[in-house]
Amino acid sequence: MGAAWDRPAPEATPLARPDAAGLDLPALRRLMESLGEPAWRGGQLFEGLYRQRWTAWERFTVLPKPLRARLAESVDLRGPEIVQSQPSEDGATKHVFQLADGKQIEGVFMPYVVRGSGLRPTPPEPPRPVQAEPAPGFAVRGAGLRPTPPEPPRPGQAEPAPGFAVRGSGLGPTPPEPPRPVQAEPAPGFAVRGAGLRPTPPDINTLDRVTLCLSSQVGCAMGCTFCATGQMGILRNLTAAEIVGQVVAMLNHHGHPADVPVNLVFMGMGEPLHNLDHLMAAFAILTDPKGLAIPPRRITVSTSGLVSGIERLGTYPKRPRLALSLNATTDEHRSRIMPVNRVWNLEALAEALGRFPLQSGERITLEYVLLKGLTDSLEDGRRLAAFARRFPSKVNLIPFNPHAGSGFEPPDEARIGALCRQLVEAGLTVSVRRSRGQDVGGACGQLVRSLRRGLPATEGED
Ligand code: SAH
Ligand code: SF4
Repeated sequence: MGAAWDRPAPEATPLARPDAAGLDLPALRRLMESLGEPAWRGGQLFEGLYRQRWTAWERFTVLPKPLRARLAESVDLRGPEIVQSQPSEDGATKHVFQLADGKQIEGVFMPYVVRGSGLRPTPPEPPRPVQAEPAPGFAVRGAGLRPTPPEPPRPGQAEPAPGFAVRGSGLGPTPPEPPRPVQAEPAPGFAVRGAGLRPTPPDINTLDRVTLCLSSQVGCAMGCTFCATGQMGILRNLTAAEIVGQVVAMLNHHGHPADVPVNLVFMGMGEPLHNLDHLMAAFAILTDPKGLAIPPRRITVSTSGLVSGIERLGTYPKRPRLALSLNATTDEHRSRIMPVNRVWNLEALAEALGRFPLQSGERITLEYVLLKGLTDSLEDGRRLAAFARRFPSKVNLIPFNPHAGSGFEPPDEARIGALCRQLVEAGLTVSVRRSRGQDVGGACGQLVRSLRRGLPATEGED
């Protein structure tokens, strides 16, 4: 086939000095043995690195002092370094990471605060049989998410801030889906679920959860025409250490308390399934109860539709959840904006997703970037619904985030609302993702590094 994604992506050049940050347990045990220490000390390193998130050898007081001194002399503890942080008005922060070879990637920290909503329904409110129409502007309110009678708005709390979708459930046809006991589980991406969510995290200690958007590669081989990262081409895979390191660095930067749930979405730079080996090595560290202990169901990888990768992912007994960037409903349109569709078309994709071994209650998220005049017709909505019904799914509509030179535009609000309503009426679970960090170029598809100047890409920059 000869496509760039058909070949393995280039790998990082080996480091001149060993770096313990991001290594897995076997590697840390080997490291200890190479220093003449018992292998079990590798376990102490593992817990220090990932449970405690220590980033300096002097913090490892579990180790004898002379050993700490030897480690400080001969082993680095660096990981990807945050070299720039741009807070967005909506509370998200885009971070630029510098890697050991000088290349740069980006990640986004998205905090969520839930107040006075039914997001932690214990016990859940029973669904109401007749659901309100989604409000104009596609704010869909779900069952139990709104107190009855509505609480009078408290200052600064009444409505989700602009730029935040309200994600509801149970809007489908009767009988509505009963609310699941835990609705607070975030959907992949940037959407905020539930009424009364506040985007601005004034105080890290009041957070209900955080979502981190991570990169999986430097650049991307998939070449989607609407995506700024796609225009960079592929530079290289990230190592497992670099993937884990983004999480550690962002959590430390924001002083994240250990008891606030963390969600990870691989929706930054790169095609995660084009880097599956390192992704799954990182997944093992991220989910290890002695490490970062993030539950697998809180980790989502988003793919452009690399069927070979979807099939491989399905063979892992423990794996992240899957999101597919569908983005178009005819092969003609999809092949035009996503070259991968010329190899695995919509039918091949639907079949692969139908075969994907889901756990009970698990659904595949279908992300659908809305491109004005190209993928946003009501016919598209009809075909999207038909596609989504072929396997357990939920739909995430993403109005296109414009970036310089893309040539695409998002649809207007009325069209977004109409499509959302159409899908809800077709019985689907739908949300509209209002990308966070948009004003700092951190929204999906804007994660691109300027190769020439090493500066973050912002709107208006080529
Ligand atoms: N490569 C993976 C994950 C990274 S892209 C994938 O394509 O799924 C994450 C999401 O951002 C994808 O759903 C992609 O379709 C979407 N995206 C890319 N550029 C965008 C843009 N300019 N506006 C809105 N969404 C975009
Ligand atoms: Fe790569 Fe995803 Fe962008 Fe396509 S949309 S170019 S797969 S990052």
